[in-house]
Amino acid sequence: MTSFVNTVHTKTILVATQNEKKRAEIKEILKDVPGILLRGSNDFPFLPEIEEDGTTFQENAVKKAIILAKACNTWAMADDSGLEIDALNGRPGVYSCRYAGPDATDEGNIVKVLSELRGVPKKRRTARFVCTIALAGPYGLFFTVEGRCEGFIAEEPKGKFGFGYDPIFYVPDYHQTFAELNPSIKNKISHRANALMRFKEQIQPLIRKI
Ligand code: IMP
Repeated sequence: MTSFVNTVHTKTILVATQNEKKRAEIKEILKDVPGILLRGSNDFPFLPEIEEDGTTFQENAVKKAIILAKACNTWAMADDSGLEIDALNGRPGVYSCRYAGPDATDEGNIVKVLSELRGVPKKRRTARFVCTIALAGPYGLFFTVEGRCEGFIAEEPKGKFGFGYDPIFYVPDYHQTFAELNPSIKNKISHRANALMRFKEQIQPLIRKI
């Protein structure tokens, strides 16, 4: 009697973020992609320290994904994100995390942005969150994807959800800041959610090929 064995190949992917909330969001959006097993940094005890010294989100995400994939001999996905404000020529951009200085807090960063925008009228306070995600394997980069979320910078912080610049990022469709919006809504419309949906589209054909 002939017996058939179905072999399902599963690809382990290191999700290179220390941020628990981000990791949960990534797992939730990718949970129905067959053939992948997402692992956090904790499962790889000897991860190299990586300096985010790129001038674009893409450079930083690609650098992190490539170094980690090589070091851990696995596939690795890495992201970089931040806020671009048109009236500030795209700042804080890649410096979003440390805009008010090396030890900046979220509050400090918000105070700096609001003071730089003092007197700028609403229609010129346009801004967007941007997120780039890169996927690499031990032999190099597979692809990058980008997601955006457009909005305005509010005159003052509002709301208590989220993190970072959420209290001053006003989303016109919902008439609320990201920090006032229910997190389940933010997680559907955010730059990261958009990038992850694109990531999902790109990774499925790759997985089917292995
Ligand atoms: P990273 O991608 O985790 O390095 O994010 C860089 C910085 O961008 C964060 O420290 C925040 O200041 C800002 N940022 C990125 N995504 C968000 C978001 O969804 N809400 C608010 N701030 C964000």
